[in-house]
Amino acid sequence: MQGLANKNILITGASSGIGQAIAWRFAREGCNVAINYRSDRKGAESTLASAEPGRHILVQADVSREEDVTRMFAEVLAAFSRLDVLINNAGIQKPSPSEDLGAADYDRILDVNLRGPFLCSREAIRHFLSRPGGGVIVNNSSVHQVIPKPKYLSYSITKGGLDNLTRTLALEYAGRGIRVNAVGPGAVVTPINNAWIHDPKAKAEVESHIPMGRAANPDEIAAVFAFLASEEASYITGQTLYACGGLTLYPEFRTAWSSGE
Ligand code: NAD
Repeated sequence: MQGLANKNILITGASSGIGQAIAWRFAREGCNVAINYRSDRKGAESTLASAEPGRHILVQADVSREEDVTRMFAEVLAAFSRLDVLINNAGIQKPSPSEDLGAADYDRILDVNLRGPFLCSREAIRHFLSRPGGGVIVNNSSVHQVIPKPKYLSYSITKGGLDNLTRTLALEYAGRGIRVNAVGPGAVVTPINNAWIHDPKAKAEVESHIPMGRAANPDEIAAVFAFLASEEASYITGQTLYACGGLTLYPEFRTAWSSGE
């Protein structure tokens, strides 16, 4: 992708799943990657071990904790001197009927999925504004930015909130060389979906709802991050690009059932 070689990238939650695939993709593009992890050091080491060579580093931080995030940025800038791209990827979910949803679980999901991107974006923007050249932020949202997800109330709220984080920061900094966009994946084969990815029957049930008939592999999502971070997306800001196999196309309307055909 044009303009990515030698860029310095920080990816949150890069010890598994989509974050790991994004790290590998940016390393293949010739970037130096700061691989953030919260507690899964082994996972982060496996991201590093399979990445194309580069000046990659591991950085521990819980993205929901302000002191962790400021320390992480200090470590990244000490190692790289300059950061070009922030990928807000870390995210969690936990199912619960909304009437049983505990306030602590609700808060934790908002802290990781929404406070984390705020804290990391703020630090990145402070750095981008401190030197010439601007910068890029790409958030990992979800189709649940626009599709409600019953029993995942706090997750849905965070992804809806990420849309406004993306659009507001994009507008606020458009004139200062900073682009802010998001990727909206559908169902992707990663550990967040352990409930169904290893069970062929459950996987088939999930895939029966997807117009393209299959879940995505993480590389297909990582490619969209690479595009939005690259110069090929130089005129795009404030947008969410859905990579969802058609899930946002109202699949129930595949047949014209509402018109009696
Ligand atoms: P995953 O569970 O493999 O990845 C989540 C990552 O976030 C893990 O590496 C985890 O350690 C990290 N993390 C969790 N809490 C953290 C914290 N406090 N600080 C730092 N890191 C933390 O699952 P994934 O599917 O790769 O999820 C990545 C992102 O993709 C999430 O934001 C998720 O909402 C989004 N997403 C996933 C799917 C899907 O179907 N897999 C679909 C849409 C969106």
